[in-house]
Amino acid sequence: MTNNHRYLLLILTSLFLNSFLAQENHFKTFRSPVGIPISLSGNFGELRSNHFHTGLDIKTNGSINYRIYAIDTGYVSRINISHWGYGKAIYIDHPNGFTSVYAHLNHFPEKIEKIIRQKQYELHQESITYYLDSSQILVSKGEIIAFSGNSGSSSGPHLHFEIRETQSEHPVNPQQFNFEIQDNRPPVISQLKVYNFPNKSINLLCSEKVFSLKKFKNSYRLNNDSIIYVSGPFGIGVAAADYYTNSSNLCGIYSIKMYVDEVLKYDLKFDELDFDNNHQINIHKDFNAYQEHRRKIHRLFIHPNNELEIYNRSLGNGLINFKDSSLHKVKIKVADFNNNYSELYFHFLHKDSSSCLENKNDFDKYIFSKDSNWRISLDSNSFYNFPKIKMISQNNNIVEITNNLPAKNQFILSMKITSEYSPYMEKTFVANITKKGNILNKSGKIEEKWISAEVKKMGTYQLIIDTVAPTIIHLGNNRLKKMNQSLNFKISDDLSGVENYDVYIDEQWVLSNYSYKTSKLRVPLDKYARITNGEHNCRLLVSDERNNKSSLDFKFKFNTN
Ligand SMILES: [Zn+2]
Repeated sequence: MTNNHRYLLLILTSLFLNSFLAQENHFKTFRSPVGIPISLSGNFGELRSNHFHTGLDIKTNGSINYRIYAIDTGYVSRINISHWGYGKAIYIDHPNGFTSVYAHLNHFPEKIEKIIRQKQYELHQESITYYLDSSQILVSKGEIIAFSGNSGSSSGPHLHFEIRETQSEHPVNPQQFNFEIQDNRPPVISQLKVYNFPNKSINLLCSEKVFSLKKFKNSYRLNNDSIIYVSGPFGIGVAAADYYTNSSNLCGIYSIKMYVDEVLKYDLKFDELDFDNNHQINIHKDFNAYQEHRRKIHRLFIHPNNELEIYNRSLGNGLINFKDSSLHKVKIKVADFNNNYSELYFHFLHKDSSSCLENKNDFDKYIFSKDSNWRISLDSNSFYNFPKIKMISQNNNIVEITNNLPAKNQFILSMKITSEYSPYMEKTFVANITKKGNILNKSGKIEEKWISAEVKKMGTYQLIIDTVAPTIIHLGNNRLKKMNQSLNFKISDDLSGVENYDVYIDEQWVLSNYSYKTSKLRVPLDKYARITNGEHNCRLLVSDERNNKSSLDFKFKFNTN
């Protein structure tokens, strides 16, 4: 070996060691985002209504204002303040190529809060998305960066915590980073489902059958130890979930492997997700079982339009197809991140049967309409499967789309504005009426005598006229205010919903915080509002989504002492 070669080898070896060590470090350097033991109410990859859960839901003992710590040094790269989704959220970019995300927060320490206020006052709005560069807010590992809350689309106080690859923004499983999370309980498998297909196409489901299970230690079998008879290609579904130590919260599983006659045929793992295709969960899980019974079933076969990168794709699409007369064995192994696992075994036998007729592909029309008062517009990108759309128009202003298919993209529902609605054209909107009878405003563009809304779900839709302005109620009658007190109001709108709210003190815009959960509007009289001693005029302007406006004027006295 020449000297040059020796050097090269040395360099290569040290390069390899360095990158190996650096990688090892990634997974060890993060501290916990909370100061209490981590207990989870949700985990990574868990099946939700339109997405796989992209982080950990860390419990905060049912209350708010727990200190939230930066898991490593870095800089604040984004702050998002929203009524929906993540609510108040902060993003920190770390030097090792990962970004940590903390959501549903209540408030921030002074260092961060003052920068948020500056932006809100600059834009004259409460909701902001603010991207920051590496020179603006630096944080050290363990620094308090926020206080936990229940903001945005959160139904109880907790911290939603994510780790993303900074470059791709792909969320990765935070459990890879060795946070202290106790889990000694194996996943629970509650149901087996068999889906028969008339040919090798996953688009055309022929029939499905549910099997209940019994458990012996950590292995599951069919309840009556029967053999499953199949007549053609079929796929498997399993309802499976996991519990952590000393916790009653139902969480998601980490991996599923399916072996047919001891050969690995399907391999799923939740290490990384991608926001661009995360809604394709609706063709991974059993959509109907979820819609109707909230049952979370992983389907162990891959739809042709499924682009999720959670499977070992080299194993094929997971469909099983044998035509011989021998008995075949299936083993399904479901594991959590700590490698606690449960197994399910069953046998199947091929039996010829002609009972399964092929569904006819009738996706030939792009516009479906049964009468002249409504129509829906679809293209081949609207749905994953070829929809056979059944619609019932109960009367002129209610449309019911009765199928239960997952939409891939939005589609357009148009309803005719009939004579009784035409005087109120600008005040009319398309509403989705939920199963509980709630009105969800889907807005709508008016063209000629039609109103068209982009919708994502099948269901019941109705035209609603909103000519009623929001109501404003001033809460508390004390007109003498001191520093750090607040002005409080209740603002509500029954139909199209509160859209804009602005508060002016002596003609100057001031920040106000509105909560859609409580309908309360709070105007903090703090140092950012810059109010001087003496009497002031306060004016509230509120409008709903159909632009019905209300206002309220009143005077109050302010005293800094
Ligand atoms: Zn969450």
